[in-house]
Amino acid sequence: MVRVEQAVKRFGDLLVLNNVSMTVKRGQVVVIIGPSGSGKTTLLRCINHLEKIDSGYIYVDGQLVGYRLVNGRLVEAREAEIAKMRAQIGFVFQRFNLFAHMTALENIIEAPVHVLGIPRDEAIAQAMELLRKVGLEEKAHVYPHKLSGGQQQRVAIARALAMRPKLMLFDEATSALDPELVGEVLKVMRQLAEEGMTMVVVTHEMGFARDVADHVIFMDHGVIVEEGPPEQIFDTPQNERTRNFLGLIA
Ligand code: ADP
Repeated sequence: MVRVEQAVKRFGDLLVLNNVSMTVKRGQVVVIIGPSGSGKTTLLRCINHLEKIDSGYIYVDGQLVGYRLVNGRLVEAREAEIAKMRAQIGFVFQRFNLFAHMTALENIIEAPVHVLGIPRDEAIAQAMELLRKVGLEEKAHVYPHKLSGGQQQRVAIARALAMRPKLMLFDEATSALDPELVGEVLKVMRQLAEEGMTMVVVTHEMGFARDVADHVIFMDHGVIVEEGPPEQIFDTPQNERTRNFLGLIA
């Protein structure tokens, strides 16, 4: 579903992704951990082309991100093509990013109606189903400022799912939440994983990573230092930097 090959990304003089390669198979949950500033968010943003890599290749579902083939040659994709690609990838941010002037339901149906052209009735029925799934059916007509952070984040997840994405990216989706609200969001993410959604999750929640990940990647200073199944990364990390990081976090 995702293949990153030797991705390099710089911000000015700062090398943020230094030859990063990774793959995510269909239905897999890959969790990326690592210290702040190690390039985790940038990697996620490159996968759906919110940032453009300087060299390397990124494929999503077999398609080269940001490019298209014309007469056997690669040319940069147009904005509309990039938007179409991005519509197939759900992205959940640290901050909830809901439209403040729209109810939970309106937030969820906005893109399906206006981007996918799904009839409004159908979009509403689907949105109610998604609200039920994230445990917020009774909040359909409530505005974001009347919802807790955890509830807003669950609406944000429902909104992403309403586009029927083939891939979901989570960028520290629980980092901005009060501790008592983290569990309800992780529960929804865990349920999604169990249903077979392909997910790339950047998180500091090591319990979640250990339980839910099929594969864990540890990044530091723009490189993948170590990766493997969660038991290996958490119980027998091979690299000293991984050991230090997990020691500091624990
Ligand atoms: P992480 O998610 O692991 O905390 P980030 O990918 O957010 O790391 O950031 C990696 C590095 O890139 C940091 O040093 C950060 O300050 C820098 N960075 C991120 N985005 C930008 C940007 N738009 N412009 C300049 N520097 C950036």
